[in-house]
Amino acid sequence: MASGRVAIVTGANKGIGYHIAKQLVASRQFGRVVLGCRDARLGAKAAAEVGGEFMQLDVSSPPSIGAFMEAFQAQYGRLDCLVNNAGIMFQNSDPTPFAEQTGPTLAVNFDGTVALTEALLPLLNASSESPRVVNVSSQLGYLSQVSAELQAQFSAPALTMGELRGLVAKFKSDVAAGKHRECGWGNSNYGMSKLALIAATKVWARENPNIMINACCPGWCSTDMGTSSAPVSPEDGAKNATLLAVELPAGGPTGAFYRNFREARW
Ligand code: NAP
Repeated sequence: MASGRVAIVTGANKGIGYHIAKQLVASRQFGRVVLGCRDARLGAKAAAEVGGEFMQLDVSSPPSIGAFMEAFQAQYGRLDCLVNNAGIMFQNSDPTPFAEQTGPTLAVNFDGTVALTEALLPLLNASSESPRVVNVSSQLGYLSQVSAELQAQFSAPALTMGELRGLVAKFKSDVAAGKHRECGWGNSNYGMSKLALIAATKVWARENPNIMINACCPGWCSTDMGTSSAPVSPEDGAKNATLLAVELPAGGPTGAFYRNFREARW
């Protein structure tokens, strides 16, 4: 594979993203691996440790995405692999009311991830060297957490990103109105954000047939998010994304959800 290929890993200053970036560098399939991180000090430190390059990026901030895009285009001008790893989850012990967790959770895990991906899809489509997107989702994004009617809408074969945004907006407004349960939504903001990300994966895969676009669950990993009780190391969890980003050959699956290193039921 050409050494001129360029990869981006978001949220790579710690946890699973750090190891994804490290594994992409070690794969020798990229000339440059960019760690898009919101904290400049931690991002630069991580980049130096793994042999990548830091760029400032807060995926929940449209101005930050805009500045990142401008700088990235100027410095790199091409993209062959995007790993959307940045994510947040309110811990069960967090006293923030459910309705106040909805916006911040969706802002990073869905809205911001979608905005960044859609800004970068033209560069990925311009790549002739096995372009890929890997969305780090979760098994907590399982489809059956919503009603049968919503399941049919999220998994509709002709779903568009506009319709998907509309579904997510409806979830937010139903939460704000205190009626998300009676309207058939799941009772986890994080779960809903990851469900919507898997749905987006399938829409993008259908609309961008030249790019391998897949989602994965890294497993329950011992990170700040997963807590020290988790059984899987972030290094091993990262290998699920690395499999899709570099190990599966060109022409492999697209629109799939991987878990435990194989295609899994959504
Ligand atoms: P983590 O240790 O909390 O790390 C999350 C990373 O995302 C950090 O680098 C964080 O940066 C970054 N991030 C958060 N919001 C961001 C934003 N707005 N812009 C840019 N970066 C942002 O979590 P993790 O366990 O490694 O999780 C990585 C991914 O795996 C997430 O998408 C998560 O949902 C998914 N996942 C994790 C588990 C698990 O058991 N750990 C299971 C399933 C799925 P800061 O340091 O600045 O906060």
